[in-house]
Amino acid sequence: MTARFPDDTPLTEAVLGAARELSERDALPAYVYDLGHLDAHLAAIRAACPEIEVLHAIKANPEPALLAVIARHVDGLEVASGGELAHVRSHLPDMPLAFGGPGKTDAELAAALGADVRRYHVESLHELRRLDALARARGRVAPVLLRVNLPAAPASGTALTMGGLPSPFGMDPTEADTAAGELSGLSGVRFLGIHAHLASGLDSADCAAVAETILGWANRYARRHKLEMLEVNVGGGMAVDYRYPGQVFDWADYGRRMANLTRAHAPLTVRIEPGRAVSAYSGWYATRVLDLKRSHGEWFAVCAGGTHHLRTPAAKGHDQPFAVLPSSQWANSWPRQTVTKEAVTLVGQLCTPKDVLARSVPVPHLSVGDVVLFAMSGAYAYNISHHGFLMHPTPTVVFVPSS
Ligand SMILES: *Cc1c(COP(=O)(O)O)cnc(C)c1O
Repeated sequence: MTARFPDDTPLTEAVLGAARELSERDALPAYVYDLGHLDAHLAAIRAACPEIEVLHAIKANPEPALLAVIARHVDGLEVASGGELAHVRSHLPDMPLAFGGPGKTDAELAAALGADVRRYHVESLHELRRLDALARARGRVAPVLLRVNLPAAPASGTALTMGGLPSPFGMDPTEADTAAGELSGLSGVRFLGIHAHLASGLDSADCAAVAETILGWANRYARRHKLEMLEVNVGGGMAVDYRYPGQVFDWADYGRRMANLTRAHAPLTVRIEPGRAVSAYSGWYATRVLDLKRSHGEWFAVCAGGTHHLRTPAAKGHDQPFAVLPSSQWANSWPRQTVTKEAVTLVGQLCTPKDVLARSVPVPHLSVGDVVLFAMSGAYAYNISHHGFLMHPTPTVVFVPSS
């Protein structure tokens, strides 16, 4: 029988079956994606949020097979680099796209202008001016949402304030005011509205409260500058709590709150762009325990692979939830090393003490050869191994000859 840590870690028969088969083929470590789970999850999100538009931020996971499922349920995809743009265009040529992200190069903006990108999320005044010049040079008009960095307090009344802090993302409200003053002179761009992505890890009430703040600010901004505003994108950031895998973001509650907000702001189009909360639960990193050892009083399980495959626990500093699938496939002629009712730290094969997937987690039973299935590995997991994150080009490498 499988055991789960924590014990509300979900596991479908489809994933278990795939893991058994991979184990028998000795094809671990592996990523297992449950496309049926993803499809049902997206259908539930859409059913809960009929009155808002939904984009998906593909930086969470650009796997084409996932995007194909997600694309059936969303209004478009948000890409944040030229690499992501080219990737989506090669797999989903007709998908409506928004182009966001900091540090867009002229080459990337030019590629976007040639690729029928529907919306540009403009990160700075300089970027607005460059986009305008590039669009005019091509006889185009780029539809823009200005990304702003505002303070927004979540509903829970915690002291925590989201946004409004120094950040490389978006414009300060004063810079957005300057941009508004320039818009009428920039014939290469057309103002559609405001974009903000201020926080992550918010529950449904907090997430809707942040959206309300953004909408209120955007309305006042448009009125003050006499701009016709058609839409507001309130970003992503819906919570994924790795400590409680069974407690999924309450999309039904969020949808109700957002429906009220959307009606209050009619006929404005209100849009969200979740990433993590879309695909996190549909992906699994399956690996095998290669060695078990006690080191100065603590148990370590060395697993095949590691944080170069599953960077999430290292990046966020949490214990990745997991299930253990006992396997006797790796039996040797000597007794298998086993721990019973002990806390175990699960690490990978990298020669660095930072290669930790889960620390001091109590397990009833774990043996060398067992299969470990790390849950919630469908977003910001394999793809955030840094050279792959956001699909930017790799650096040039040069060797200056010794003289
Ligand atoms: C990363 C990102 C998102 C998605 O955030 P999640 O926390 O994964 O939902 C949405 N919008 C922008 C601009 C982002 O950078």
